[in-house]
Amino acid sequence: MAFHARASLANRLLGRVSCVGCGALVSSANPDGAEMFMLHDEVWRATKLQGIYCVGCTEAALGRQLVPADFNDALVNRRTDSGMSSRLRDRLGLPDQAG
Ligand SMILES: [Zn+2]
Repeated sequence: MAFHARASLANRLLGRVSCVGCGALVSSANPDGAEMFMLHDEVWRATKLQGIYCVGCTEAALGRQLVPADFNDALVNRRTDSGMSSRLRDRLGLPDQAG
């Protein structure tokens, strides 16, 4: 299923949303940074996951680290003002801090 990241983006950005796998907050309510991201459909299907997952659980399911090419061009992947975790920034190939 590919509905994982499209259903309620605003709710997930604003609310207290947790990873299905480990329970960590993935929304901006997490003081260590949000892990909101969208993968290319074929990458997401390869994880066999359904729901919302953090970077760590996604990588565990995929069996490897995420790389910039795994992410699609969704706005959520390119926002630099959304308080991304340093781990997500690293996977996206973004500098650790904006500016
Ligand atoms: Zn997790």
